[in-house]
Amino acid sequence: MPVMPEDDLSAQERREYGLRWNKAHHAQIRVNEARDRRKLLDATRARYGSECARCGSSAKRLCLARQDGQSVAEVTGIPGEDAWATRRWLRDRGWPDGFVMVCPRCL
Ligand SMILES: [Zn+2]
Repeated sequence: MPVMPEDDLSAQERREYGLRWNKAHHAQIRVNEARDRRKLLDATRARYGSECARCGSSAKRLCLARQDGQSVAEVTGIPGEDAWATRRWLRDRGWPDGFVMVCPRCL
């Protein structure tokens, strides 16, 4: 396991320490990421619902959509319909109104 870096390390040494740390903690990092994603997904569903806002289906896979029919990407500025980036965007803005969950059929 890498030792803690001293304050007088160069930028290069810090980078190398970071890489060694990530390698040594790879499994724990993966576990933390999965936990954080689960929390983000749960929080999104708690805020916007776990059923389709249009047909009421409780499909396993729900997508975020705009209540007013606008494009989510247009409102958030996140290209490519990146669902995780969109959830983080919503969380970071205090879960704003105007978004709903819809099933793939109703999207
Ligand atoms: Zn639906």
